[in-house]
Amino acid sequence: MRKTLISVGILAATAIPLIALAQPADSGRAAFRAIYEEMVEIDSSPTTGSCTKVVRAAEARLKAAGFAAGDYEVIIPPDRPDDGNIVARIRAANPAKKGVLLMGHIDVVDARRADWERDPFTLFEENGYFYGRGTADMKGQAAVWLDMMIRLKQEAGFKPSRDLVMALTCGEETSNRINGIDYILKNHKAWFDVAFALNEGAGGLLSDDGKALVLQIQAGEKIHQVFELEATNPGGHSSRPTPDNAIYQLMAATKKVSTLSFPVQVTPVTREYFRITGPILGGDIGKAMSAVAKNPDDPAGLAVLLADPTYNASLHTTCVATQLEAGHAPNALPQRAKTTLSCRVMQGTTPEQVKETLEQAIGDPNVKVAIVRRREGSSAPPLTDEIMGPVKAQAAKMWPGVPVAPVMIAGATDGRFLMNAGIPTYGLSGMFSKSGETNAHGLNEKLRVQSLYEGRDFLDAVVRAYVK
Ligand SMILES: [Zn+2]
Repeated sequence: MRKTLISVGILAATAIPLIALAQPADSGRAAFRAIYEEMVEIDSSPTTGSCTKVVRAAEARLKAAGFAAGDYEVIIPPDRPDDGNIVARIRAANPAKKGVLLMGHIDVVDARRADWERDPFTLFEENGYFYGRGTADMKGQAAVWLDMMIRLKQEAGFKPSRDLVMALTCGEETSNRINGIDYILKNHKAWFDVAFALNEGAGGLLSDDGKALVLQIQAGEKIHQVFELEATNPGGHSSRPTPDNAIYQLMAATKKVSTLSFPVQVTPVTREYFRITGPILGGDIGKAMSAVAKNPDDPAGLAVLLADPTYNASLHTTCVATQLEAGHAPNALPQRAKTTLSCRVMQGTTPEQVKETLEQAIGDPNVKVAIVRRREGSSAPPLTDEIMGPVKAQAAKMWPGVPVAPVMIAGATDGRFLMNAGIPTYGLSGMFSKSGETNAHGLNEKLRVQSLYEGRDFLDAVVRAYVK
């Protein structure tokens, strides 16, 4: 089945150079759609798929478009044949500045055919939507990057002032795959000698009746750090209980974490997001946003926002119990009890600071707090005029009157690796959707047809402005 899909992809690849000559973005739409279809139809999920198949299809297209050996590289980690990545570059003749990186992950979350309404690895276009695994997260944007590199390479007179680099990578969605961005940074760093990167992480918000409300640009994300609480005890026979029981101690400590609230931090990005989005959303939430944008200590506004899981997550570090493990026999006092905490940490906060806060809240030296997955807290990238100018100018042309709002996200993207390496990374797609509409990672994932094409036009204009 998958073999068939690949061969269809290669046939399509040979047709590309004929169609995608120097033309405005919208006229190469059929060629772009073929790239998108091919990407979605190659299963690149961790259980049944292969990123390398997507990479080989992209390689065929790049070669056909004139990318020579040194202009691109297929990077496959040793012993991980399915975890392939591909990078490509259009060089500036006399670069005035460091380059711009267009990055996208090509792996997707697993999808079981039996649970879906349509085959997840066939691209369906129905009722104004593209359906399929990865249509939204994020083969749309990955296809935009590949299509853009191919078009610009072939465009007579395209002379960028700085290098344009593309990286399509594996391993963003999983922890059992090698993360391509991390791997390239460690082993092929020269490809990432760039000034900044554009990534997934933000699109645009549509109203219930489908009107564009706000275009988002992601600047920063929380950092996932994992902690363990552990109580130990010599144990003994369960017929002779003692008060210092490891399970009871751990439960008490876990309970304290459940009511622990880390200090509120209204970051400049979140404050700006509230300022712009508050009046658009209106209602209690909108009013609270406007109040907190005016005064970040506004108690009534904060109370409303902290009661909402989404805004709560953007206002402070959170730690939540996700796993529990205790005891070793029904008739023995527990010698060990352990809670795993998943902490989503504000940028700029170290794992040690989180650990100290947890220890203070628990206040029991018999319960040890350990950092089990350590990730450094990077800082949010600056929203400079160089970055924002082209975004605002193009947004004004395509969506007049729709404001551009910066967002910090509570989840994680591959941007964290680059930000830790000192490369500011921004989430930007120009692809609008209603809140929760795409159901990324879930069943029947979809993306609006119009949003994909508009996002492509938007990114084309913004990237051209960056390398002008
Ligand atoms: Zn993604």
